[in-house]
Amino acid sequence: MKFSKLMQRAGTETAFAVLAKAKKLERQGRSIVHFEIGEPDFNTPENIKQAGMKAIQQNFTHYSAAHGVMELREAIANYISKTRGIDVSPEEVVITPGGKDVILFTAIAILNEGDEAIYPNPGYPIYESAIKISGATPVPMVLLEENGFAFDREQFKKLVNSKTKLIIINSPGNPTGGNLSQDDLEFIADIAKKNDIIVMSDEIYSRIIYKGEFHSIASIPGMKERTVILDGFSKTYAMTGWRLGYSVANKELSEQFVKLATNSFSCVTTFVQKAGIEALNGPQDSVEMMKKKYEERRNLIINGLNEIPGFSVRMPEGAFYAFVNITKTGKTSQEIADYLLNEAGVATLPGTSFGKYGEGYIRFSYATSLDNIREGLKRVKEAVSKL
Ligand code: PLP
Repeated sequence: MKFSKLMQRAGTETAFAVLAKAKKLERQGRSIVHFEIGEPDFNTPENIKQAGMKAIQQNFTHYSAAHGVMELREAIANYISKTRGIDVSPEEVVITPGGKDVILFTAIAILNEGDEAIYPNPGYPIYESAIKISGATPVPMVLLEENGFAFDREQFKKLVNSKTKLIIINSPGNPTGGNLSQDDLEFIADIAKKNDIIVMSDEIYSRIIYKGEFHSIASIPGMKERTVILDGFSKTYAMTGWRLGYSVANKELSEQFVKLATNSFSCVTTFVQKAGIEALNGPQDSVEMMKKKYEERRNLIINGLNEIPGFSVRMPEGAFYAFVNITKTGKTSQEIADYLLNEAGVATLPGTSFGKYGEGYIRFSYATSLDNIREGLKRVKEAVSKL
């Protein structure tokens, strides 16, 4: 079959392919320790599950408006207004089946062929894919370990030109765990305002931050109108499989997102949206509990990985990923990831799953139990000693 040019431009997320490979090995009787997929191992908090079940019983099983359920959009508008210190109205909120759609929607709504969009590399692979799908040119902003995977202002300044229409940022970041400082955000904001550029700020890990406070670029004066905030429930509330996320953007742009929603999923599952209201308005202690556990796991895995000869990793400031420098092993990212899976039964992702500047790294997701981390570290150490 011959597929469209658009499909040839589209990329993918290899975490799901590695998961499938690891599951196949498990079916063959191998024991696998999973570090490949970026999802909380916690179950969704009980109050949220109850709210979802109650909503089914109350027959919230029909279509909602394409924008989403008003009560949820109000809860999100309140939450974003409070946490970002800006004034958001429900009309500026669109509910999506996961934050992921916001990436594609933003690219499709804003970009044309010949435009350029700057995105972090290594970074979440859907950024580059979505830009390519839109027909625009992806321009990588290389995140360097020596800058704490934060931001290189000199490099950034050189990347911006009259064709730049979109800048994508992600803090705390996947796969690096790096954070953008308030100074970095102000620098980006200044350039975005001067050059009339839209910023898509992926804030999906904003509640999983171990050091300092979360800052959103949308809070900077003059930025709310030109920022698309991507956020959602997957990571904060361990709700990956519910598929619930949202955009916060100016009304004009939000209407374009609604048009895209109408052309694709129509609306997010109504009872799932109802559960989202409970997630935001109900008790938040489970969010704090999960964060504390991630921090404990982070400390264990980072210290353990740094003891392995040839491996080095900096302490991530947010999210739940260890991005390990493996250059001293003399092997490529793919070789190390394959070796660990086949020899040690440890599933990780090669850094190149996050763009070409991820070469020299492998990613461990530490959203898994302390016991799994201990077992994984033991296996990795033994396998690496045989390299
Ligand atoms: N953005 C980043 C940086 C992510 O890591 C992910 C998921 O891994 C997403 C967005 C999408 O999350 P979801 O679609 O589950 O809300």
